[in-house]
Amino acid sequence: MFSGPLGAAIVADITLEQFTAEVTAFLDANAPRKAEQQAFVWGEGPDSPGLFREPDRAEEAGQIAEAKAWRAKRYDAGFGWITGPMRYGGRELPHAFERRYNELEARYDIPLQSFFGIGLGMVAPTINDHAQPAVKDDVLPKLWRGDIIACQLFSEPVAGSDLAGLQTRAERDGDEWVISGQKVWTSGAHYSDIGEVVCRTDPTLPKHKGLTCFVVDMHDPNIEVRPLRQMTGGAEFNEVFFNEYRVHDDKRLGEINDGWRVALTTLMNERASIGAGGGGGGGGFARLQEMVRHFDLEGDAVVRQELMQLFVELKVLGYTSQRAMDRIKAGGLPGPELSIAKLALTENMRKTSAFVSRVLGPRLIADTGEWGTYSWSAYVLGMPAMAIAGGSDETLRNIVGERVLGLPKEPGVDTVSAFKDIPRNGIMGR
Ligand SMILES: Cc1cc2nc3c(=O)[nH]c(=O)nc-3n(C[C@H](O)[C@H](O)[C@H](O)COP(=O)(O)OP(=O)(O)OC[C@H]3O[C@@H](n4cnc5c(N)ncnc54)[C@H](O)[C@@H]3O)c2cc1C
Repeated sequence: MFSGPLGAAIVADITLEQFTAEVTAFLDANAPRKAEQQAFVWGEGPDSPGLFREPDRAEEAGQIAEAKAWRAKRYDAGFGWITGPMRYGGRELPHAFERRYNELEARYDIPLQSFFGIGLGMVAPTINDHAQPAVKDDVLPKLWRGDIIACQLFSEPVAGSDLAGLQTRAERDGDEWVISGQKVWTSGAHYSDIGEVVCRTDPTLPKHKGLTCFVVDMHDPNIEVRPLRQMTGGAEFNEVFFNEYRVHDDKRLGEINDGWRVALTTLMNERASIGAGGGGGGGGFARLQEMVRHFDLEGDAVVRQELMQLFVELKVLGYTSQRAMDRIKAGGLPGPELSIAKLALTENMRKTSAFVSRVLGPRLIADTGEWGTYSWSAYVLGMPAMAIAGGSDETLRNIVGERVLGLPKEPGVDTVSAFKDIPRNGIMGR
């Protein structure tokens, strides 16, 4: 595991060694250690290379309760937000300490933590940067302690890649705003307590200029959450309807009509979270290698070639993600290189998907109970979502073209016209 050296900027009153001892004592007292990492053996261990979780709602509720209990324990012991401000329960320690905590925690069996990914990876940094002080005081400790979970309410039926074309309205009424409209593909809305929503507040301005973000209460009866079932079987996404939902102005993020800037904070952190993934999914390269051995294809020149190509590309991606993340950890902003990392991640997953389809053939579609075969169908069916989530491949290529390669911007007259004058789906902007 990579562990960055302590730089001169570190102001911690605790050394990394003391911190390591503190964390190890906490983990030893609260979680069982994982068995020593064994070499991967075909037919042994979990058979779940899928990319998405597919639990039923009851099973999921149990997992969430366990996840929250772990986060609370961690927070109460002083490890909830290692780099965050003390005012919100953080330790104000450098990133090297957080990395060390993550390395150590990975050696223990702790409850699944993915429920917090969007809230802590994307919404919390946005609240930290743009919310009013009372909201930060109230929400940030609860988010980091795992008392509450947050979701991201951005995409709409006709506004995904073209997010700034969104049509959910927020209209001012005294000290409140009244929100009406529909969001879609909202991951985890059904178990979230709060959400970050971006709304149109002035349709007379160009589309990027008339937006405003708010923190909303997902338990309010005027916010309706309806599940969407994926082709993999699970239902992680939702449609979310705002039926004249009222939110106080003090829940606004950033300035009125400056919501695009706020949304960009969230989107940059989203790419950082996804780009940081680095690997190819599916449970690691060894699983693919052993699959080839198991099916006696080591001598097949095409299979060998594809396997080695994957090996090289997974390694390169790992280093690219590491470089981008180190830049962020050294105080830089998530930049367009993360778009490259996300594109490469998706490409590796696509190649992994094609590779296992070639090796497994009909075993991929007929569930015979054979270990390590049909289970891959969840990966193959889930993979296309990765080319869409967090910016589709085409959107990211546009970003790389314009911001990395300096190519001319795509023409877009609708960036200057008033949103209300732009025809959308045969109707005007609102
Ligand atoms: C796993 C997953 C989780 C998600 N979670 C959330 C969430 O929690 N919250 C949330 O708000 N949203 C979420 N989304 C939605 C996601 O952000 C959108 O699906 C995404 O932005 C694409 O938008 P769209 O689906 O409307 O597709 P569209 O924007 O309609 O795109 C359709 C196709 O056209 C292409 N295209 C669009 N514009 C251009 C262009 N200018 N040039 C070239 N090609 C173009 C796209 O690449 C794509 O292939 C999630 C999606 C997935 C798959």
